[in-house]
Amino acid sequence: MTRTVSAVTGAHVPADLPDHIRHYIGGAFVDSIDGDTFDVIDPVSNETYVRAAAGRKADIDAAVAAARTAFTDGPWPRLLPRERSRVLHRIADIVESRDARLAELESFDSGLPITQALGQARRAAENFRFFADLIVAQADDTYKVPDRQINYVNRKPIGVAGLITPWNTPFMLESWKLAPALATGNTVVLKPAEFTPLSASLWAGIFEEAGLPEGVFNLVNGLGEDAGDALVKHPDVPLISFTGESRTGQLIFANAAPYLKGLSMELGGKSPAIVFADADLDAAIDATIFGVFSLNGERCTAGSRILVERPIYDEFVERYAAQAKRVVVGYPHEAGTEVGALVHPEHYDKVMSYVEIGRTEGRLVAGGGRPAGFETGNFVAPTVFADVPADARIFQEEIFGPVVAITPFDTDAEALELANGVKYGLAAYVWTNDLKRAHNFSQAVEAGMVWLNSNNVRDLRTPFGGVKASGLGHEGGYRSIDFYTDQQAVHITLGKVHNPTFGKQEHPEPSLDDPDPR
Ligand code: NAD
Repeated sequence: MTRTVSAVTGAHVPADLPDHIRHYIGGAFVDSIDGDTFDVIDPVSNETYVRAAAGRKADIDAAVAAARTAFTDGPWPRLLPRERSRVLHRIADIVESRDARLAELESFDSGLPITQALGQARRAAENFRFFADLIVAQADDTYKVPDRQINYVNRKPIGVAGLITPWNTPFMLESWKLAPALATGNTVVLKPAEFTPLSASLWAGIFEEAGLPEGVFNLVNGLGEDAGDALVKHPDVPLISFTGESRTGQLIFANAAPYLKGLSMELGGKSPAIVFADADLDAAIDATIFGVFSLNGERCTAGSRILVERPIYDEFVERYAAQAKRVVVGYPHEAGTEVGALVHPEHYDKVMSYVEIGRTEGRLVAGGGRPAGFETGNFVAPTVFADVPADARIFQEEIFGPVVAITPFDTDAEALELANGVKYGLAAYVWTNDLKRAHNFSQAVEAGMVWLNSNNVRDLRTPFGGVKASGLGHEGGYRSIDFYTDQQAVHITLGKVHNPTFGKQEHPEPSLDDPDPR
């Protein structure tokens, strides 16, 4: 494969890029009905490298119609779980076998460091494998009322699932929705993020090769306010699984309300890492560096606020800042790069504006702008502010870049108040060797997920999701299966029919044995 590196920008341009990106509807690649397209840029040169079809309502209508037909008339929802599982495992095999190419394209399109993009490609395969296994092991509830009833759960796919995803780890996050939606027998319309449509365009070929029936997977590219909005408002789409910003989630919630759709919302975060004085400091520093600077800081579960107990505060800040300065900023395709380029100049401007705000709110101890040697592209040096007060904007607001706020605390109660004192509640990381404190603090912190003396290491069986402004509903393990299925309760009378009898008495007595008078 030929590789080119632009001499001007240092951008690596993968070979064999598509000449344009199209929708995939009913088993065929198609352009937008009105022929419209939008520019897609790479984050190192910030130049347009491809144009993508810009979907609107008419394209969403076509995709939903195809998905609906595949659901009502096609084989997919009616296959045995084992048969669907086989297709999902084949998908995982194909993704694994192409992990290097996937990582190359993802890194080019999103600016993620290549090694981390490779990890995300493998995780995408794992998501398919996990749900492939889960549906064949799936058992549903049955309840017996002796001599009266047997009641069981008839689990059914719901229909066309609308999947709307962000740009931070595009392919992996798409797989997190596609795998359970498909595993449970639904058909889907995916609307990927407009900043990063490249890797999503690979799903169609992967699914065709794995034997997914036509029409089960549909993809419409486009802007959120056009294609995304039309998907949310489509009456034949009963489910929307959304990952993105909290304020977009609020809008989608309101737009879906008239249709009473099932909604799963994985939203923003401003997660705290709380480091107590008795913690393993070396491990805590390594983990909190990785926790906010991995994935370029464009990570929903980033530990972007570090709360440090006063006795170790000065040492922590000094060591943290020194290590942050050593984090390697580089071109995304280079193996040694730890922080690459932010996804888009608009996002770069947003992150840089917070760096400027931070200068007035805290004490800058590392980074603070564009790193030396990177005159163009969306590069931001890992940036650390210490002594950040709880009312600072860089403490309260999601920056979604390589910027961290460090704040001291004196007591457990103060640490908890600081940890909980933001509108978000996605993740929390607690560093202490005191067993009682570890559990008491973890249980009291307002976060959907807590890691104790650990970085963000996922177990796919556990619930994933946030509280407060960080989300609504949880996916992960059986919770994903629950979201993408209806659980119909079927009740069977055993023996004699148990009826209060109406209308046979001249002066009816009130019935006292209706067990559930609803
Ligand atoms: P975003 O909300 O701007 O966009 C997400 C998706 O929604 C995109 O596909 C976009 O086109 C679409 N969209 C935008 N407006 C829409 C509308 N009105 N109707 C329907 N769809 C619309 O988010 P982003 O900037 O792409 O992603 C970053 C955000 O995602 C951060 O806040 C981050 O924390 C969050 N995130 C959360 C998780 C999680 O699991 N909780 C994971 C990753 C990212």
